[in-house]
Amino acid sequence: MPETTPPVTAEQETKPKIKTRKPKQRACDEKDAKGKLCNGHLKRWYDYPKEIKARIGPKAEIYRCEFCKTLYKPDLSEMPHSYTLRY
Ligand SMILES: [Zn+2]
Repeated sequence: MPETTPPVTAEQETKPKIKTRKPKQRACDEKDAKGKLCNGHLKRWYDYPKEIKARIGPKAEIYRCEFCKTLYKPDLSEMPHSYTLRY
């Protein structure tokens, strides 16, 4: 069957971009066409649409840049250190 998922040719399908948020990263590190750092604040995004949910999974933690709307997923390898045992 040739009608399966095509490789990443259609740019529309990959937007918005989802990046991995580096530990302690709070500002967007995307660069625009001129190479200027976006530096937008990354905000926790709760009411994402279902297309996004399909890409990140249910109950996923996601952050969004307030300027360029790039999405950031937390780096899960970091989680056990910062989220466990906070007495
Ligand atoms: Zn940005």
